[in-house]
Amino acid sequence: MKTRWPVIDTHCHIGVNLINTFVAETELIPYLDKNGVDIQILFQVNEGFAHRTPEWNPFVGNDYIAKIQKMFPERVIGLATINPWLQRPKTYNYPPNEDGRPMDLPIKDEAIEELDRSILELGLWGLKMHPLEHNYEINNPTAVYPLLQRLTELQKISGRKMIVVIHGAGDSVNNTATAIAETAKAFPELLFLMAHAGFIWCYGTTSAVSIPVPNLMLDLTLNVGPYSVKDAYKACGPSKFTIGTDGPFDLAEIKDPIVRALTGDDEEAYQLIMGGNIAKYLDIPKIPVEQ
Ligand SMILES: [Zn+2]
Repeated sequence: MKTRWPVIDTHCHIGVNLINTFVAETELIPYLDKNGVDIQILFQVNEGFAHRTPEWNPFVGNDYIAKIQKMFPERVIGLATINPWLQRPKTYNYPPNEDGRPMDLPIKDEAIEELDRSILELGLWGLKMHPLEHNYEINNPTAVYPLLQRLTELQKISGRKMIVVIHGAGDSVNNTATAIAETAKAFPELLFLMAHAGFIWCYGTTSAVSIPVPNLMLDLTLNVGPYSVKDAYKACGPSKFTIGTDGPFDLAEIKDPIVRALTGDDEEAYQLIMGGNIAKYLDIPKIPVEQ
């Protein structure tokens, strides 16, 4: 029987706020079907990030992502978004003569607790990180690494393979390709996707820094100049790449020419980038094709 890899789109923002009014409960499945997507990696809408879904807007927050994943478990892989700055300080840094004294104030470790809740209770599959929106350097060992350390542990506890999608356009000093590669290298058990593959502000560094890091994939979402990552394609082949739409804002049709610019008419390479690589990582089988 003929089979094909599932199309796994790596990038879609859902939720209702000022910049997005895509009601996933009703719109998502028709949208996926129309665009030929078998499985969608989903996360929160930008500018509306919340941990627990607030009363005033039931269409944002990690609970909302989990709700949609629960509605369509065969079609959705949901990721949590967490603000790393909301961790409990471990020690005092003020006043200066008390620097290093263990923290004894009644402050919750909100970021870590939300990560635990997202993975263990909500059943989400990892993190969507936005260093630009939350304003942190992705390789910040104080703010970011404790979250990724805990995610590595949660991967073992949950038995699910985790995915970390990082907004990786290099459009701020917080999310350069170099910093993302350094972070991926520090957590080799997690799979990192550099969303937008450094386009366009990390031209010239994206391939160089990512080639030596096997757990860092270049995600071609809206990377409309894929020649900028051709060195990585030459060195690593199609297994290094994924792609999403950045839906529902952007045109799904743009994925095809982006991927073809790298693969040409190599059909297996094309299918791997469109979803096969993530399917392999998550042990999702090929789909029978009717002839
Ligand atoms: Zn996006």
